[in-house]
Amino acid sequence: MTHEAVELLSRYLKIDTTNPPGNEDQGVAFFAEILEKEGIAYKTYEAAPGRSSISAVIPGTGEKGAVILLNHIDVVPARADEWRVDPFSGEIKDGFIYGRGALDMKGQGILELLAFLEVKRKGLTPCRNLIFLAVADEEAGGKNGVQFLLNNHGDEFQADVVINEGGFGLSNVLPDRPLFMIATAEKGVCRVKLTRSGPPGHGSAPHGENALEKLVQGLSRLLAKDNPVVITPLIAEYFKQLASSWDFLKPYLQDGQPETLIEALTQNGRLDIPHMSAMLKNTISLNLLHAGNKVNVIPSVAEAELDVRLLPGADPDTVIADIKACLADEDIKVESAGATRASESSMDTEDFAIIKSVHLEHFPNALAVASLLFGVSDSRFFRKKGIPCYGVCPMLISLEDLGKVHGIDERISEENMIKGAEVYIDIVRKLCKI
Ligand SMILES: [Zn+2]
Repeated sequence: MTHEAVELLSRYLKIDTTNPPGNEDQGVAFFAEILEKEGIAYKTYEAAPGRSSISAVIPGTGEKGAVILLNHIDVVPARADEWRVDPFSGEIKDGFIYGRGALDMKGQGILELLAFLEVKRKGLTPCRNLIFLAVADEEAGGKNGVQFLLNNHGDEFQADVVINEGGFGLSNVLPDRPLFMIATAEKGVCRVKLTRSGPPGHGSAPHGENALEKLVQGLSRLLAKDNPVVITPLIAEYFKQLASSWDFLKPYLQDGQPETLIEALTQNGRLDIPHMSAMLKNTISLNLLHAGNKVNVIPSVAEAELDVRLLPGADPDTVIADIKACLADEDIKVESAGATRASESSMDTEDFAIIKSVHLEHFPNALAVASLLFGVSDSRFFRKKGIPCYGVCPMLISLEDLGKVHGIDERISEENMIKGAEVYIDIVRKLCKI
């Protein structure tokens, strides 16, 4: 018989909640039907037509503040012609469930749901309100999802802790054991627009003031510069933990000096790995460039957009001032379309300790560490309200499969869904003292 976790995920993946447009109301209907069958009251919230979220609460004794099990319903687009299976088929093949959202994050949504249902099915009374919350619009910034909910229904989502995406278990990073990352922080993001103007002209008579050429020259000065490695307290601790499995970090374990860590990472080529480097540096990625509309006309304006990601502690204004200095062209206009600083939650809380210890109970051989998510998630909105958020996903996958997040042939194994449900149930039971 198919395990409930596998069956539910396969069904959920059949629902196309590609954002844009989202159509999360179909995902809400999926959850509503299940909750109704279990006799659990729920509430839906429509931020815009088709853009719904859903919550349900199992009341607790009030001994502690609520725990929210947060997940997003929407997914990023998938091109069927690039995939080996239909990305919205929920196909189960060779022990894997395939579909857009299997990892990000419909699989985890199902684990959270099953942990929530377990409490109701067993008739348990948690020591705190247990809230299941599936939201719209995470992939496009949360305006029609968490931002809408916190702005309009904030009183319903007061909590002591939020469990969200951002964590993962990796089977093949450490030589001797699995590594579980529990996200306690995420990088900030800053979108920077650059505009350079110059006199137009005929392409047959270059005049040296070509706006596009000037912008490209400034950009090459900027991109030639390597951002320095910054060892934040979280990263210092992260590598201290990893040093027990990675011999090349032993000198750092002995002296604990940031310089020793940087030296070890550099010597070992680790800074050349994009995912590793993203945890250690503020990054700049040039992703959009617009200029010109005819090959024989010198354009009068050229624009570029930069995706800038900020480490905890980095100040957006300082980073933008740095960008200006590196461009070294007073005539390049630099504008920021809003910046969000990095957000971080303490790893010295009882809830974090519980989450970590349950991982280790189920995977005694593993290492479980607090980690930094280099993307952004809805956690940033809750952290802004002072609520600790942890990225928790007790699935053990390969680096190759992690690369399928937002990519091709996204999948999760049946085994991970089955084991993940057990771990999630235990996490929730311990957080709720039941
Ligand atoms: Zn996600």
